[in-house]
Amino acid sequence: MSAVVARPGPPVVELDDVVKEYPGGTRALAGVDLRVERGELVAIVGPSGSGKSSMLNLVGTLDRPTSGRVAVDGYAVADLDDRELSALRGTRIGFVFQHFHLAAGVPALDNVADGLLYRGGSADGPARGPSRRERRARARDALERVGLGHRVEHRPHELSGGEKQRVAIARAVVGDPPLLLADEPTGALDTASGAGVVGVLRELNAAGTTVVVITHDRDLAGSLPRQVTMRDGAKVADTGPGTGCGGAR
Ligand code: ADP
Ligand code: MG
Repeated sequence: MSAVVARPGPPVVELDDVVKEYPGGTRALAGVDLRVERGELVAIVGPSGSGKSSMLNLVGTLDRPTSGRVAVDGYAVADLDDRELSALRGTRIGFVFQHFHLAAGVPALDNVADGLLYRGGSADGPARGPSRRERRARARDALERVGLGHRVEHRPHELSGGEKQRVAIARAVVGDPPLLLADEPTGALDTASGAGVVGVLRELNAAGTTVVVITHDRDLAGSLPRQVTMRDGAKVADTGPGTGCGGAR
C-alpha cells in the first residue's frame, strides 16, 4: 500500500530552517528542515543533547521556534494564536512520553477518556467536546486497539511498565489525531515490553496514523521505514520518506 504518494493533502509536518535558542543562549536547533508526509513512520535518532526533544516539542506545537517555519497538517504555527494552537494540538496531535504521565489512582479507562477533554474546539472553528459517556466508550475502543481491553479498570500501579505505556498510547490516539509523537516511549521499558509498544505504534501507523518516534535504540530505529539523525542541533542524515503504513523498505 503506497499511501504516502497516493494520498493528497499537505505534509503532516514541515520544518523550514528552524532555529531554537533557549534563554541563556543554548542553541538546541541550528536551522533544521524536515518534511513528513501523511502515513509515514519516522524514527528520530541521535546522541543525548542533539536536539531531538526540542524538535519534537516544536512539531507538537508545545513550543515556538526562535526563527524558521513550523507547519502541522498545513497550518503554519506562526499564523495561530494560543487558543488556535491549543485547538490544533488537541485535535491533530497525540503525545507519548518516556514516563507515561498517567494520573495516579485513576482507572485506565478514565485516564484514556480524559485524553478527549482537550478537544473542546477544532482548528477550523469551535465545536463542542464529546459527553462523558461518549468519551468512555471511545476510551474502551482505544484500549482495545492497544491490546488492553482486559485492563480497563486497572489503575496505573496495577499495570506493568509496558501496559502503562499502552494506556498512554491509547490516551494519545483516542481522539484519532492524524499525527502521533513519541519521545523515547521505550526508554523506561525492558526489551520485550519495548518491542510490544513498538508493535502498537506500527499497527496504528498501518491503520493510517503518521508516527514520529524519538529513540536511543539503534535496532528499533533501524527496523522503522525512515531514520532522521540529529547531531548538535542539526539534521545530519535522513533516509528519506519510506513507504510507511507497515511497508518494508
Ligand atoms: P535531546 O532530546 O536530543 O537529548 P534536547 O532537545 O532535550 O536534546 O536538548 C538540546 C539542547 O538544548 C541541550 O543542550 C539541552 O541542554 C538544551 N535544552 C533543552 N531544553 C532546554 C530548556 N528548556 N532550557 C534550556 N536549555 C534546554
Ligand atoms: Mg530528549
